[in-house]
Amino acid sequence: MDEIYDEALELPPPARRVFCNRTLNLRGIRAVGFDMDYTLLHYHVEEWERQAYEHLRVRLSVHGLPVDDLVFDPKMIRLGLILDLRHGNVVKANRFGYVKRAMHGTRMLGYEEQKELYARESVDLAEPRWHFLNTLFSLSEACMYAQLVDRLDRGEIEGAFGYADLYRVVRSSLDEAHMEGALKAQIMADPDRFVMLDEEVPLALQDLKAAGKKLLLITNSEWPYTRAMMSYAFDRFLPDGQTWRDLFDMVIVSARKPSFFEHRNPCFEVIDDEGRLLPVLRPELGGTYVGANAFAVEASLGMQGDEILYVGDHIFSDVRVSRSLLRWRTALVLRALEGELEALTAFGEQQAAISQKMDLKTRLEHRFSRLRLGLLRRRKGYGPQPTASAEDLERRMHETREELVALDAEIGPLARAASQMDNERWGLLLRTGNDKSHLARQIERYADIYTSRVSNLLAFTPFVYLRSPRTSLPHDHGPRGGDA
Ligand code: IMP
Ligand code: MG
Repeated sequence: MDEIYDEALELPPPARRVFCNRTLNLRGIRAVGFDMDYTLLHYHVEEWERQAYEHLRVRLSVHGLPVDDLVFDPKMIRLGLILDLRHGNVVKANRFGYVKRAMHGTRMLGYEEQKELYARESVDLAEPRWHFLNTLFSLSEACMYAQLVDRLDRGEIEGAFGYADLYRVVRSSLDEAHMEGALKAQIMADPDRFVMLDEEVPLALQDLKAAGKKLLLITNSEWPYTRAMMSYAFDRFLPDGQTWRDLFDMVIVSARKPSFFEHRNPCFEVIDDEGRLLPVLRPELGGTYVGANAFAVEASLGMQGDEILYVGDHIFSDVRVSRSLLRWRTALVLRALEGELEALTAFGEQQAAISQKMDLKTRLEHRFSRLRLGLLRRRKGYGPQPTASAEDLERRMHETREELVALDAEIGPLARAASQMDNERWGLLLRTGNDKSHLARQIERYADIYTSRVSNLLAFTPFVYLRSPRTSLPHDHGPRGGDA
């Protein structure tokens, strides 16, 4: 902790930094709202999703679907992938929406199959055909969907099921599992198994509060669950006599985001420990509420959207909607960033080798094309004629081609390893090859800042001025000019 006071100029290690898309002066922020699940509280994703998957499986079994022997595969699906309900596929797209990798059911498509299917179309999330996996809570349903697509293809599912119908059944069953009490009761009964404690989160919030900011909790979770989980994760790290509730100036549960940011939903005050509710006009400082809406919160705080920072993990409900509709400033919590940065660091030497070999490849291709053009001009007898003979040009083309083939043989395995970084099927979350992934593009557009966990704010202090870096354009990089 002491290092925070010394005069060193070092920033925290990359995995614990706060990254900035749009300049944000934290001193100008007067209220900070936090989402709870996967934001203030991080879960062991595999444990939580396996539990959710079990509930989903039981429900689907009741619907008569053949799910009894299915098991959750935590590596099959990643955040930010997209379901294609027309074809029963899971896809990874780049920032333009072009599909770069695809899986039908649980089988990865080969390059040709994928090209055949997607060469002429791109992902447009406004169409109901595509379903973006916005949150870690999506992993269980997407895994189940992919497994059931296999069974549908094999004719093992009775009834008039298409790929889209199948998804609707999976979606509504998981929805019920989240809303009905049994799954949450299991989590509350054994929080040690599901929650990853982070003692720095309460301290980061204390810092923000002490610096004069109003703190809000705005979660879609219900009151009994919120109360139990916040108490479990926070109270033990707070000074004697204080509880998590003392940190927040306003608590809103069952918020129904994204609707919370879109509509003037009614507001109810939680008036006692039994969770009894009283309808009220709007939330006030100090209270605990069910429902409510962002317009009423702004009115109660007497603040404009750009004075409020909302911190959440859900790309659509927490970040995109609050930013697009209300101009709240937004922070995305993306825990997987830590694994991604670790994988990139471990791959550093290989990445340098790829870059160097690709640079050489570009030059060799350039040389080959020039030799070929020289030969063409010589044969057709126009333009400035090369000094070398046709045979000489052909021989040098042949040599260059050999060099290229040898180089490709070196690049191949390296490129394959790069595409499997962090996850064998899907590779990195934020990249597709050299380009940004669709997820990266969403983050860039809607999250003013992003970081792997809320406690990363601690080292940056409530007074930080976060500046977006100078962005790079293709002409900033690329191979150097000149002959190879
Ligand atoms: P938040 O992230 O704090 O806003 O809360 C997320 C809440 O939404 C948790 O209580 C989850 O159980 C719940 N949740 C996640 N996915 C679904 C769903 O598909 N249907 C209903 N509730 C969900
Ligand atoms: Mg959340």
